[in-house]
Amino acid sequence: MKNIQINLLPEEIPRKWYNIIPDLPEKLPRPKDPEEGESRLKLLPKIFNPVCLKQEMSTENWITIPEEIRELLLRAGRPRPLFRAIGLERALKLPKNVKLYYKSEFFSPTGSHKVNTALAQLFFVGKQGYEKVVTETGAGQWGSALAYAASLMGLKCTVYWVRAAHDLKPERKALMQSFGAEIFASPSNRTKCGRELLKKDPKHPGSLGIAISEAIEDVLNSEKSVYCLGSVLNHVLLHQTIIGLEMMKQFEKIDEEPDVMTGCLGGGSNFGGFVLPFVGEVIKGKRKIRFIAAQSESAPSLINGEYRYDFADHAEQTPLLKMFTLGHKHVGTSIFAEGLRYHAAAPIISLLRKHNLIEAVAYPSDEKSMFEAASLFVKNEGFLPAPESCYAVRAAIDEALKAKKENRECIIAMNISGHGFLDMQFYTKVNEMVK
Ligand SMILES: *Cc1c(COP(=O)(O)O)cnc(C)c1O
Repeated sequence: MKNIQINLLPEEIPRKWYNIIPDLPEKLPRPKDPEEGESRLKLLPKIFNPVCLKQEMSTENWITIPEEIRELLLRAGRPRPLFRAIGLERALKLPKNVKLYYKSEFFSPTGSHKVNTALAQLFFVGKQGYEKVVTETGAGQWGSALAYAASLMGLKCTVYWVRAAHDLKPERKALMQSFGAEIFASPSNRTKCGRELLKKDPKHPGSLGIAISEAIEDVLNSEKSVYCLGSVLNHVLLHQTIIGLEMMKQFEKIDEEPDVMTGCLGGGSNFGGFVLPFVGEVIKGKRKIRFIAAQSESAPSLINGEYRYDFADHAEQTPLLKMFTLGHKHVGTSIFAEGLRYHAAAPIISLLRKHNLIEAVAYPSDEKSMFEAASLFVKNEGFLPAPESCYAVRAAIDEALKAKKENRECIIAMNISGHGFLDMQFYTKVNEMVK
């Protein structure tokens, strides 16, 4: 057996989350209020649960994961294997010294890495006496993860779902409903923000930013309810670091180290969770790794964005965060990888980008290069990556082929952030396009 599947034992689930904030090359700019209007910062304690807000600001390097959360992660199937992609290596005719590995975040009850933070957040929410949790979702993965976690914790769950994706995915809607969640296509007529947009365009395709605004409005108007966010914020990236921490142990077991790591990037949670523990060591001079964030030209925040303060949502209800942003009114073309269509990248990721600690690529929004990557991966590895995850696969393939051409040794690790079983419209298109 030549290290095709590298596993950890249940007790090797990390005991602490890694918080990169104190290790960053400069102080992370704090959220702030816009010059006009009501204070958004004062709104935060009304919509978020206090434990996550405290984690958001924490400057402790390591934060203990409560045993109850480690048990929830165990029930959700962690730790997740690291695979050597020998099928893909063969298909690409890679030389022996170019290796591909992938972390299997698709082995998840709802199909993505998002359960890692959903379980953590709702464990804390459950202890605070809330009864209902409200959120938004793009591709539908975050809504599914939160609905699942809410169901385990006995909480009600309301999801505002970007209409373009909602209309395309009745099966994922059924999954969320199986967990007992209540779902609305966004923009919806349940909120002021939604009604205004529908007046202008009754078929408005929606966006993550718009759905966030609707969810916040709902929480402010409901009793004992709390808002949860599945990406962008520091505490979300913190919870996701178990991905990278597990992988670090897995590479230690086979006595290898990645030279390049690729992940797809929408808001930055799977990419952050995957790379941050390694970035911390690169900053300290302990490792040399290139980190590549794979984006869509529909929302190339790290490439065309400006590093400045901007709202995290369309209706300007959130505080201003310093991020690489395309502007909070950015909508972008609709793509299969809906989870990547967000106007900005997480503040932590943005700061690392500013310091050139991470690279970024953006692929055309016709997604042709993804159809090819998806097909290659499925035919040679068997698992169906979510459309978003195909961007990580694409970037890894491109790097592998470059290393082959330049006759250079290279170990590449990619994060397969989710499963594509509920994205068969995408795979129908893949089959049509790749003959
Ligand atoms: C949500 C999602 C993404 C994009 O969000 P990030 O916060 O950038 O990770 C990527 N892949 C999958 C499978 C997702 O569900």
